Amino acid sequence: MTLRQASPPAAPRGVDAADAGPMPTRGPLVDTFGRVHTDLRISLTDRCNLRCTYCMPAEGLDWIPSPHLLTEAELIRLMGIGVTRLGITDIRFTGGEPLLARHLEAAVAGAAMLRPRPEIALTTNGLGLARRAGALVAAGLNRINVSLDTVDRAHFAEITRRDRLPEVLAGLDAAAQAGIAPIKVNAVLDPKVSGEDIVNLLHFCLRHGFQLRVIEMMPLDADHRWNPDAGRHVEQILAAVRERFTLRHDPRPRGSAPAELWQVDAGPDTPAGEFGIIASVSRSFCESCDRTRLTADGQIRNCLFAAGESDLRGLLRSGADDEAVEQAWRAAMWTKKAGHGINDPNFIQPVRPMSAIGG
Ligand code: SAM
Ligand code: SF4
Repeated sequence: MTLRQASPPAAPRGVDAADAGPMPTRGPLVDTFGRVHTDLRISLTDRCNLRCTYCMPAEGLDWIPSPHLLTEAELIRLMGIGVTRLGITDIRFTGGEPLLARHLEAAVAGAAMLRPRPEIALTTNGLGLARRAGALVAAGLNRINVSLDTVDRAHFAEITRRDRLPEVLAGLDAAAQAGIAPIKVNAVLDPKVSGEDIVNLLHFCLRHGFQLRVIEMMPLDADHRWNPDAGRHVEQILAAVRERFTLRHDPRPRGSAPAELWQVDAGPDTPAGEFGIIASVSRSFCESCDRTRLTADGQIRNCLFAAGESDLRGLLRSGADDEAVEQAWRAAMWTKKAGHGINDPNFIQPVRPMSAIGG
């Protein structure tokens, strides 16, 4: 069984920025390929309390100095510009670990005040969620993704370099109790993650009504351990899942959603559910990408893999008005490349690791 066959990641039809005519100064947030960006990913901090092997080195990283971090007021202003002037409809808070950001609830509440009100989501490792799930829902959180690669405690400790699985499970439980739906579980297919890890994790997710998404590892790990076999690992994991579950491919069109979905039948004793694969590298969805990213230090990145970024923090602090910030954000997105370019022999991994960009 292979992933659904489609033509290889087609570069979106488009033109070089130089030939694309003038950048629109009003209307949706577009690039030269006609992609419209409505999904804003905001990294609230680059710090983290885990050290996942596919993301951070054991010793951590040099954290962004505090004076460089956006203040709560700056963040709320930028979200307002995004929603009211640029057509952002979805905001996802991420990190680093966003639950380490004290202003997370305020940021969620600030997003919930905007009109038209965006959908508000969180990607988290779940540590501390047990204490804060209720407050986050009260602030306006709609959806959550909790990262979890295995339900085997020793293996979790090996992958994340911290023995904290019970706290993640308590966080998931609290999110369900607080009424957050859907709850998605993200598992990165690090080489250490086996077919058995994912089969057991899928059983766990089906029993609890969580939707499992497995994610192909991307070359954004600070240790530079990624290798091109990551795509083959995805196929092996899917084969392992098919040996234990009956999967029916979900025929609904994916649109800009990155996950390829299957309906899962696990037999009479386990509730049916959903399983997804996000194969960002081997089955790229760049042609329908609708994401724009804001780092914790106020830089706009037009792609996870972009070599450059645009400094909105400097603009804000120099006294720029909303119009100037809007146009700088538009210019940043206008130059977005057709695709991630990972399969290009000249590909260079971005200097910023995943934890400082926000996945
Ligand atoms: N700390 C939070 C968490 O782990 O959910 C949010 C930040 S984390 C950088 C965001 C997402 O990126 C997580 O789902 C994580 O598993 C994923 N991720 C981290 N490193 C990755 C890599 N090298 N390839 C693919 N996904 C990765
Ligand atoms: Fe931390 Fe998330 Fe990176 Fe793991 S994936 S080290 S939890 S930022």
